[in-house]
Amino acid sequence: MRIVVASGKGGTGKTTIATSLALGLAGDGSAPPPIFVDCDVEAPNAHLFLKPLFEQSQPIGIMIPVVDEALCTHCGKCAEVCAYHAIAVLGQKTLVFPQLCHGCGSCTALCPEKAISERLDPIGVIERGPALEGIDFRRGLLDVGKPMSVPIIRALQKQVTPRPGQTVILDAPPGTSCPVVAAMQGADYLLLVTEPTPFGLHDLRLAAEVARELGIPTGVIVNRDNGPYPDLETFCRSSGLPILLRIPFERAIAEGIAQGKNLVEIQPEYGERFRQMFHQVVRGEKA
Ligand code: SF4
Ligand code: SF4
Repeated sequence: MRIVVASGKGGTGKTTIATSLALGLAGDGSAPPPIFVDCDVEAPNAHLFLKPLFEQSQPIGIMIPVVDEALCTHCGKCAEVCAYHAIAVLGQKTLVFPQLCHGCGSCTALCPEKAISERLDPIGVIERGPALEGIDFRRGLLDVGKPMSVPIIRALQKQVTPRPGQTVILDAPPGTSCPVVAAMQGADYLLLVTEPTPFGLHDLRLAAEVARELGIPTGVIVNRDNGPYPDLETFCRSSGLPILLRIPFERAIAEGIAQGKNLVEIQPEYGERFRQMFHQVVRGEKA
């Protein structure tokens, strides 16, 4: 089963929840420890909770077109086909703008003069290694100044091949843009982490809309729960989103997280609570 943990905004405690779920499942004993994938490639921080020992590193890049002006007739077909305006013909010059290029290869394939070759433009790395409780930890890291995180997330996704009975937990980037959609692709279940505030609810609505568009079964975890927030309850009820777990707003939890601990380390009973929630999700039950 592939579970994506996401939130419409940063700072909801998404990574705390995702890593705590991983540790909870790792403590189950009846299944292999999960694979954990940190897809927040611009600012990955799940390693701070799960403490992996990275043993493998693989560079990731995209193929950027290179135009041979000696062969180019400046017909403009490459510019026509490029959806990202990353290649343009200006008079007798064909220009490539690498920062805009998504490496889709369309211009190379469609150039009638075979005037385009490609070069690899490195954009980051993916890393892998064992973490706490035997968790198989992977993460992507986007190079500073590179605008394209989706190819790294896709590379991470492609390399996930779980063993029978092994759960995959993907920690999505915050927000609702392309990298989040890339992380959600192929998910069997989506956990949306929110907090009971107007801001939390606003961003939950956006994330739930993305989930609905993608057709992924979804449940909600309320973090820093400090009592009933009727607007949130009403939204979840009317949208058919079960609230699977509530993490109370407690000083001991906040202090533990500030020290780099996750919920299972701070209060071990959360291991069982996350396992119960997982089994509820697997059985397709509503809270
Ligand atoms: S499609 Fe090929 S020949 Fe035409 S402008 Fe582009 S690079 Fe030049
Ligand atoms: S590879 Fe794709 S995105 Fe890049 S310039 Fe060519 S058509 Fe545009």
